Amino acid sequence: MAEDTLYFRCPCGQLNRVPGTEREREPVCGRCARTLDGQPVPIRDADLQKLLQASPVPVLVDFYADWCGPCRQLSPVLAQLASEHRGRLIVVKINTDQDQDWAARLKVQGIPAVFLFKDGELRNQFAGYRPLAFWQGWLRDL
Ligand SMILES: [Zn+2]
Repeated sequence: MAEDTLYFRCPCGQLNRVPGTEREREPVCGRCARTLDGQPVPIRDADLQKLLQASPVPVLVDFYADWCGPCRQLSPVLAQLASEHRGRLIVVKINTDQDQDWAARLKVQGIPAVFLFKDGELRNQFAGYRPLAFWQGWLRDL
């Protein structure tokens, strides 16, 4: 079943398809053999468009910076969200000190800023810290 396929974006850039029947195993990346744990993965501006277009599962993008306190507070919350939706949601993070193109394009005014895309389209956005239940609600509403 197509719905039973899990998707993982590896830090190397590879988008991996994993049969849901292998859910209990630790899948590894088809390109670099790294273990795919489904945790938030850093991504660069130049690679985001391709991921948004290629991903069959929703993509949540976290714009952050290392010096930003609320970003550090939000980081484990999004990691938990990624765990709960392992293989069915891709969580990526853009360091706004390194990359500003997408932040400008999405008119990010403050960080953390979180954007949810599905089928390449923006479905939801929010800036600031919120607890886990808030983000879970986004996915329920999809
Ligand atoms: Zn890889």
